[in-house]
Amino acid sequence: MKRTTGQDRSITRNWRPATRAVRAGTWRSEQGETSEALFLTSGYCYDDAETAAMRFRGEDPGMTYSRLQNPTVAMLEERIAMMDGAEACRVQASGMAAMTAALLSQLSAGDHVVAGRAAFGSCRWLVDQLFPRFGIEGTTIDARDNAQWEAAIRPNTKVFFFETPANPTMDIVDLKFVCDLAKSRGITTVVDNAFATPALQRPIEWGADVVAYSATKLMDGQGRVLAGAVSGSADFINNVLLPFQRNTGPNLSPFNAWVVLKGLETLDLRIQRQSENALKVGRFLEGRVPRINHPGLPSHPQHDLAMRQMDAAGSIFSFELEGGRAQAHGLLDALQLIDISNNIGDSRSLMCHNASTTHYSVSAEAREEMGVSEGMLRLNVGLEDPDDLIEDLDQALKAVGL
Ligand SMILES: *Cc1c(COP(=O)(O)O)cnc(C)c1O
Repeated sequence: MKRTTGQDRSITRNWRPATRAVRAGTWRSEQGETSEALFLTSGYCYDDAETAAMRFRGEDPGMTYSRLQNPTVAMLEERIAMMDGAEACRVQASGMAAMTAALLSQLSAGDHVVAGRAAFGSCRWLVDQLFPRFGIEGTTIDARDNAQWEAAIRPNTKVFFFETPANPTMDIVDLKFVCDLAKSRGITTVVDNAFATPALQRPIEWGADVVAYSATKLMDGQGRVLAGAVSGSADFINNVLLPFQRNTGPNLSPFNAWVVLKGLETLDLRIQRQSENALKVGRFLEGRVPRINHPGLPSHPQHDLAMRQMDAAGSIFSFELEGGRAQAHGLLDALQLIDISNNIGDSRSLMCHNASTTHYSVSAEAREEMGVSEGMLRLNVGLEDPDDLIEDLDQALKAVGL
């Protein structure tokens, strides 16, 4: 296996994001294949016993076991690291495996975490339910408010953890302010960048330490596999994350890594088109529904900040109906093209009622506090013709009296 011509960092460093998404991290075998090879192997053989011993001592660069290294997985890790502008990346079996590894690998009993309160349900579960069992305290705040970050810091605060845009409220966090504040106080920032992906937002450029993904979403982009990724400095990835990951084993299978590599080839194209489609559908819904949370629309209270940090607003937004759960469920049941699904980032348009699905595990009080109302619906806009989506929404809105 060797890296392809031009994989030398002095050349790839100058590549723009779309080029990195297609080309970065390609290794080729002696067959010279154009598409990345799929190495479905759990182990590796050695020419002699001493080579095996050298590999385990780290004195020979070859691979030893797929919980530790795999060529297809390594290609994906190199590609995502380059897309993020990070020194290194490791991939995991799902977005939640990535979040858990990114956080637990660096936290110990007695540490304190400050987290954005508007977050994916399982991310909230880590902070609210899991960490306290191990003596890790958490404070959840309105992450849109810079003053709350500062006020929540304690002497033992180790990590700031947040999503921007947040799932599903579409709250935006001021990356530069929060990352600068963390740096000045010796706190590590962990940014869940699933909604934007490195195609639209690169938190490391704004000073973030660690970027984590559900690659299940836009990186795969076609609703096929679960995957996760964590990018950061070589020191963090190799000395903090890797010992945790190698010994606890939340590995991504080579097959799923290969699927995500194929997904990344079209990420830029898909996310640009899906962002355009989501804006068109959002403009249609604005005025038809009482409230829409779309960072690409000037009506979003943080529109300017979002557009400073992101190259486009992405495929996902939410909106709220006044008729609560009954009206929201009624609208879902009236859809004829858009599917009822809690997945996002897919090339198909999908809609869900978060309070009864993705945020079901979060208490009703926490849902209310984070802004996940009973009338909220989240829409992932896919690659269909947006006029067909608008017609579907129009008939479904009429069916519930809107
Ligand atoms: C989906 C999602 C996750 C979890 O990812 P999985 O791949 O489903 O484990 C975490 N954070 C955000 C923001 C998500 O949307």
